[in-house]
Amino acid sequence: MTRTLIRGAQVITMDTATGSTPTRLDLRIADGAFTEIGPNLAALPGEEVIDGTDTLVTPGFVNAHTHSWEYLYKGRYDNMPLELWMLYAYPILGGGRTSPDLIRLRTLMFAMESMKNGVTTLIDDVLETPGQDLDQLAAVTGAYADIGIRANVSGHVINRPFVDTVPFVTDWLPDELVRRVRAEPTLTAEGYLDYSRQAFARHHDTANGRIRYMLAPSGPQRCTDDLLVGATELAAEFDAEVHIHVLETKTQAVTGDELYGGRTLVQHLDELGAMSPRTTFAHGIWVTDEDIERISRHGVSVSHNAISNLKLGSGILPWRAYQDAGVNLGLGTDGCSSSDTPRLMEVMKTAALLHKVTEPDHTRWSTVDEVLRAATIGGARSGVLDGSIGSIEVGKRADLVMFDTETLAFLPTNRLENHLVYSENGSSIVRVMVDGVTTVEDGRLTQIDENAVIAAFRAEMPGIREEQDRLDRVNDAFAPAFARMYEEASGRSTPVNRWTGDENRWVRQHA
Ligand SMILES: [Zn+2]
Repeated sequence: MTRTLIRGAQVITMDTATGSTPTRLDLRIADGAFTEIGPNLAALPGEEVIDGTDTLVTPGFVNAHTHSWEYLYKGRYDNMPLELWMLYAYPILGGGRTSPDLIRLRTLMFAMESMKNGVTTLIDDVLETPGQDLDQLAAVTGAYADIGIRANVSGHVINRPFVDTVPFVTDWLPDELVRRVRAEPTLTAEGYLDYSRQAFARHHDTANGRIRYMLAPSGPQRCTDDLLVGATELAAEFDAEVHIHVLETKTQAVTGDELYGGRTLVQHLDELGAMSPRTTFAHGIWVTDEDIERISRHGVSVSHNAISNLKLGSGILPWRAYQDAGVNLGLGTDGCSSSDTPRLMEVMKTAALLHKVTEPDHTRWSTVDEVLRAATIGGARSGVLDGSIGSIEVGKRADLVMFDTETLAFLPTNRLENHLVYSENGSSIVRVMVDGVTTVEDGRLTQIDENAVIAAFRAEMPGIREEQDRLDRVNDAFAPAFARMYEEASGRSTPVNRWTGDENRWVRQHA
């Protein structure tokens, strides 16, 4: 049995008693779990003792919404709204099967960068084009198992022709293109659920429980109703997460209006019975007050992806309205194409800052405590993992991050939790532990040969770039119609906002 004692660290536990207030504590870890927490614990025979003097220890961070698939697209695109950007980052036509070997490299690179920034759990909504098979899924879970990170991994599915999931666009696309998209094979609900049952059997609760499968219908408008309901039911059988993109953009708010006769997408999911405490909505920006009430009533979590939402011009999540309604929030980076980094600490800082400009009442601005909660226990709750991770408490798995507080970021030391969110960016991290195992120490990954992974990845880069250029050219054909659709949707009123003639701007109705 491996035993570790961390002595004399300042600890942010995120438990209900002390929350984000640092306390000087010793942490005893045995067999991957916290077994004793308190001041002045005596070392036991055979215990590895880690000196925590001048360090801050926090629960490991949970990236509550990301797509490792996008790692290959990091830094490639800019200044495109979601609907245009998706044409390239998730090509509609022309995609070929990515090999499991390349998927493994992609996943390792993504996990390496995540973990060095203190992320110990990934909610990874993985998509492959034209579709994911079990060997590709195994390449992702295998990489995570080997590198030592914790992850919920999907199973992302779109089972309606993409051109039918956005409003207006089929009127403006050449008929031949519409026909080709509609002729692409799509999964039936039963096909996806069968696949998911096999994925559960092969991957769920593997690697000492670190790896879990999750269901991930892409969005209500992108999936058939029977799939949305079936995914919710199957998730209940395995107590697993259902991860779904909801109301990320104004276009999607308009889509609800167009597809479901004036209903919002949230109302549609509610009426279907596709909302539960295992459900996480990614984004949840263009929601009405009634939508928020439904989300709260069903115990649905929302992952807030502040940087991605800024980069794609999607909008600003109504942070305070969710907090007031008691909705559980997590924080996500989203994929590396829409945010260009898996570093969750950047999202933490952005979330703490962004909601200060949305209203003048400073007593309602986002707080450091709320942000740290979302980055840890809130994210864990969204992943149906809060019973085992998300806070430093006896009985929970030992996922933690240790920061050196003698670095410039923490000097002069005032309130450590404020430094953590506003001054630190991950550069002071000296140790990361997952399941009681040190996975990052002094900036190096301990479980894999990082340099070998990078070298192998570099060798693949010319081929990757060539393939991306080819796909860009194929999908350029959709761009004019999608640009026109985006413009049309931008000009529409939605249940969430109205045009103010006097001020010449859109305002949120519940702002
Ligand atoms: Zn996403």
